[in-house]
Amino acid sequence: DRTVRQIAAGEVVERPASVVKELLENSLDADASRISVAVDTGGTEGVRVRDDGVGMDREAVQRAVEEHTTSKIADIDDLEAGVGTLGFRGEALHTIGAVSRLTIRTKPRGGDTGTELRVEGGEVTAVEPAGCPEGTVVAVEDLFYNTPARRKFLKTTATEFDHVNTVVTHYALANPDVAISLEHDDREVFATEGRGSLRSAVLSVYGREVAESMIAVDHEPDAGPIGRIEGLVSHPETTRSTREYLSTFVNDRYVTAGALREAVLDAYGGQLATDRYPFAVLFVEVPADAVDVNVHPRKMEVRFDDEPGVREAVTEAVRSALLEEGL
Ligand code: ADP
Ligand code: MG
Repeated sequence: DRTVRQIAAGEVVERPASVVKELLENSLDADASRISVAVDTGGTEGVRVRDDGVGMDREAVQRAVEEHTTSKIADIDDLEAGVGTLGFRGEALHTIGAVSRLTIRTKPRGGDTGTELRVEGGEVTAVEPAGCPEGTVVAVEDLFYNTPARRKFLKTTATEFDHVNTVVTHYALANPDVAISLEHDDREVFATEGRGSLRSAVLSVYGREVAESMIAVDHEPDAGPIGRIEGLVSHPETTRSTREYLSTFVNDRYVTAGALREAVLDAYGGQLATDRYPFAVLFVEVPADAVDVNVHPRKMEVRFDDEPGVREAVTEAVRSALLEEGL
């Protein structure tokens, strides 16, 4: 029933940033080459994600907001191969629709009619033909308007926006071949060009000073749990006072892992000033069965079967990159 649905929704949609994450993933899955994210008041008033992906016809968009519907194959192998939120398959749009006012405008590639579908508090209130470009726009307004207890847990605009910014940043860095932009209260925060280079994505997201200080890492250990480590790390003098800019990806998924962060810091040895942290955007490839994704699915925390092996390989990769620059 409705109450149960709303409680379940609160478990999976925690805040505007979780909505943004799900919508971004859908746009990427839909083969988009441009995705724009716009949020109002930290996302608490509104989240809009627009893409130029494959779009949906009328039947598909109606199905998309039903319970447990996915157009994506979800067998056991698929679950085991993935790193990321697992409890969410085919549920995101349905769940979001239960706790907000949701509008989807979409038109399939090469199709001639678009559709607008609206959901309010879990009820479909309209399905109408609409003139719109190919692709999909999903707008989520008044998140948790019908679950006041949930709404009370939302933090300040600045904090909620921070979470949104972090999510969009990680997706922009992980997908440099897609042009991804972020707007807050009608002001552009960043926009990547989608030209495919990680350095140009870093330039768009973190600015010129950081991009120019970045040193390339590309390392294939001879043995051990890691297949390949590549990405960019900053010069030891280009730092910030938080670890927030150490971004790590395992098999192309953003993750947090103490082992990876520690490994990067170890590689700098004594070169970092006290309480200063470098920028890093590092992609690590490991066999799916060497990583445990179930530590805390929503927080993206992972552990490795062979933590010391992973640490050693990442430290070695970053250290040799710094050494090549004479550092
Ligand atoms: P899941 O992504 O796990 O399949 P969702 O609830 O997020 O579940 O989405 C349900 C379905 O709606 C997807 O499987 C997909 O077919 C469709 N869909 C959602 N967003 C988009 C989009 N931006 N473009 C095209 N299709 C979409
Ligand atoms: Mg999805």
